[in-house]
Amino acid sequence: PELTQLVLDNLREIPDFPEPGVLFRDITPLLSNGEAFANLIDGLAAHYRGHIDAVAGLESRGFILAAPLAVHLGIGMVTVRKAGKLPGPVLGVDYALEYGTARMELRPETVREGSRVLVIDDVLATGGTAAASISLLEQAGARVEAICMLLELAGLGGREKLAGRSIDSVVVFE
Ligand code: 5GP
Repeated sequence: PELTQLVLDNLREIPDFPEPGVLFRDITPLLSNGEAFANLIDGLAAHYRGHIDAVAGLESRGFILAAPLAVHLGIGMVTVRKAGKLPGPVLGVDYALEYGTARMELRPETVREGSRVLVIDDVLATGGTAAASISLLEQAGARVEAICMLLELAGLGGREKLAGRSIDSVVVFE
């Protein structure tokens, strides 16, 4: 509840970005507010401490959240990246976008077999990015314990796509 208000108080909504008709939720005000950012990471760390062995950040904004959380908890961070960014060998999963496809990649040796992993990103929209990333982590031997999203855009079907998963959204927009 405190985290929900904290995020809501530090968001900006930008109509027609990056395309006409899209209402973009911008988290840069939260990141640039040092006290709010620290309180967010403290709150997430308190919630997940003892329950996870690694934090997987989804490129790009998931990295900004995953890195301080991992350091705070004294555990490792795993980077799940967009196509072509990681040197091989990599696992890859392609997924559908509204127009076209995208691909996420992972270096499997960055994941320990059986480790409990938290997946974190800024926004859950259609769930395609998260679903592809979870598939990669599981192929690499992780147990995906929880998924943490700062914002969930309900109505785009993300929660349904990730059916059966534990999804912790700090703020849900209907
Ligand atoms: P999905 O794969 O769930 O459709 O889209 C999620 C990805 O798109 C996330 O990695 C997220 O960063 C990005 N995304 C989609 N909509 C927004 C938005 O309104 N604001 C921000 N910051 N990212 C978004």
